[in-house]
Amino acid sequence: MSEVLNVEEIFGQNVFTLGKMRERLPKKVFYEVKNVMDHGGELSLATADIVAKAMKDWAVEHGATHYTHWFQPLTGVTAEKHDAFVTNPDENGKMLMEFSGKELIKGEPDASSFPSGGLRATFEARGYTIWDITSPVFLKEDATGVLLCIPTAFCSYTGEALDKKTPLLRSMEALSEQALRIVRLFGNTEATKVTASVGAEQEYFLVDRDNFLARKDLIYAGRTLFGAPAPKGQELDDHYFGTIRRRVGAFMHELNIELWKLGITAKTQHNEVAPAQHELAPIYNTANVAVDHNQVVMETMKVVAERQNLACLLHEKPFAGVNGSGKHDNWSITTDNGVNLLEPTKTPHNNKQFLLVLACIMKAVDIHADLLRQSASDVGNDHRLGANEAPPAIISMFLGEQLEDIVEHIINDGLATASLEGGKLRTGVNTLSDIGKDATDRNRTSPFAFTGNKFEFRMVGSKDSIASPNTTLNAIVAEAFCEACDELEKAEDFDSACDALIQRYMTEHQRIIFNGNGYSDEWVAEAERRGLPNIKSMVEAVETLTTDKAVALFEKFHIFTRKELESREEILYEQYSKVVNIESLVMIDMATKQYIPAVIRYTRALADTVLKVREAGADVSVQSAMLDEISALLKEAKAALETLKKSQAEGHAMAGKEQAFFYKDVVMKDMDALRAPIDKLEMLVDKECWPVPSYGDLTFEV
Ligand code: ADP
Ligand code: MG
Repeated sequence: MSEVLNVEEIFGQNVFTLGKMRERLPKKVFYEVKNVMDHGGELSLATADIVAKAMKDWAVEHGATHYTHWFQPLTGVTAEKHDAFVTNPDENGKMLMEFSGKELIKGEPDASSFPSGGLRATFEARGYTIWDITSPVFLKEDATGVLLCIPTAFCSYTGEALDKKTPLLRSMEALSEQALRIVRLFGNTEATKVTASVGAEQEYFLVDRDNFLARKDLIYAGRTLFGAPAPKGQELDDHYFGTIRRRVGAFMHELNIELWKLGITAKTQHNEVAPAQHELAPIYNTANVAVDHNQVVMETMKVVAERQNLACLLHEKPFAGVNGSGKHDNWSITTDNGVNLLEPTKTPHNNKQFLLVLACIMKAVDIHADLLRQSASDVGNDHRLGANEAPPAIISMFLGEQLEDIVEHIINDGLATASLEGGKLRTGVNTLSDIGKDATDRNRTSPFAFTGNKFEFRMVGSKDSIASPNTTLNAIVAEAFCEACDELEKAEDFDSACDALIQRYMTEHQRIIFNGNGYSDEWVAEAERRGLPNIKSMVEAVETLTTDKAVALFEKFHIFTRKELESREEILYEQYSKVVNIESLVMIDMATKQYIPAVIRYTRALADTVLKVREAGADVSVQSAMLDEISALLKEAKAALETLKKSQAEGHAMAGKEQAFFYKDVVMKDMDALRAPIDKLEMLVDKECWPVPSYGDLTFEV
């Protein structure tokens, strides 16, 4: 038997939790902090000093030597610069570890090398990190020792957001303010705040580390850029929820422990559809903390994998031909007196507050479908969306039979008088109990599905931060709430005005509802008839950020200024080009230095064989034919390589939007043209001569 693991004891041991603050801070200080956490405002420097000292003492007791302002620049990964608690020694040479309130609240990394999209020139390098009191500080243990991580927002000298957290926090405040107006309409005077909650299900792949290190494409690009399919893929559905293999199990076990120590509620784990693919889901948390936690989850997966001689691939499409990875973003909104605005109750047809909220969300998603689509786009996700494994690139909403029936009645008759019920599920087996059914089945092909008391946004990529999708969701729903309240707060007869508004919104925006198969071609045609946008790629989605509609939305709720949006647009084009440029260079590198030389060596050996066999007077037709076939493909590969080199150079010399489109339309096609003959060669050349591990080695050898 293994040693008994005390999860309750280790849970949160590396987090400076509210409980620890309560223990370690004077009562008055604790309540001051708690008040700012819950309702905003500023801590006085004197208070911050006390908090900083308590934090430092706790951290040092746990072995910490350094602290960092941990932030989320627009690179999509997190950033940290470590400072030791070390101070100048006194005259006796004695040094005391210190950490001040000022150091806790504000940092000033020289941040000129982070993407700013023209918000800052390199000579104006000042950027500030500002403590986000709403996300707990935590200890990170790595090769540098123990590090106190302070979640922070990252802004420019002039106050523009240079990160993903600042707009998210702004959007949460906007949503809270507008959602409060909604609940006030229904007589809720107690709630003081409404919070968006998020649970992100994280998919990932695990491969053997030695195999990983033998593939330059995985090292540099995070995905395979070559590779013939393995004889077996996911067609038997035997990996999904299958028994967890030993090495994977050991990984999951250690990962859970690390996450629990960090107060992350790792809850669900299972094998996913593709071979070597797995999933982890935590219990939901406030949007801000969920975003931070998801970053920590991704980082921890990489670290634990390395320790176990594995590599964790978070890319959206590490392998062609089998499913890629995504991140389901489960989202709901709850008042601080415990009401989930997305809880339909048993009889949603007469739950007017719920129906109003639903009508507003229908409107928000319909009007801003383009923005939602944009928020889930990244370079890797282009390989998934619309590719029969993930939702299509078209945004639609799935409500389920029960709500759809109600919406239909409201549209046709102005009201719904009943709610469909789930009833009993009978198995026909006496010894199995009849269970209560949900009122609604699920739809796995919908990008935005109502799942009981939350919406599940299923488009998000596995590697991407979930900050943007949630910022967008909060913003668009805040706007719809605001517009509804502007009207309803003035109404003389609230009840009838509310009914009319719900009916109007649902009627005007019913085209966004789709309950059918989102993976089918018919839906693409139907969506076009309905006038729903079908934005096929990340680069095509970028400009949705700066339409008049988007600028008006984000400026109205102080989430982004036009300038911030324009800067993000620039960064996204740049990111796209840079990623594809790296991928093309990796392909050029691998083809030139690995594949083509390997094939040449093999053809030389084959040619020798042909000569020798002929000399021996035996039939050499097979060897000759193979030599011809392989040489022809080699020629094709070499030509494709030269073409790719040219287009890569041409693309590299361009800039901005034009460059991004060139990479998408020209360079990517040339990459495909190079991959095709090499993948065919992989199936012809002796495996002993092949320079890299195959798809089979990678996905079945863990
Ligand atoms: P499903 O099977 O529908 O995917 P789960 O219950 O497994 O749903 O939950 C998936 C994720 O959704 C988990 O991270 C879970 O914590 C989260 N979740 C559950 N309820 C809510 C809610 N009300 N708001 C936000 N996230 C939620
Ligand atoms: Mg789910």
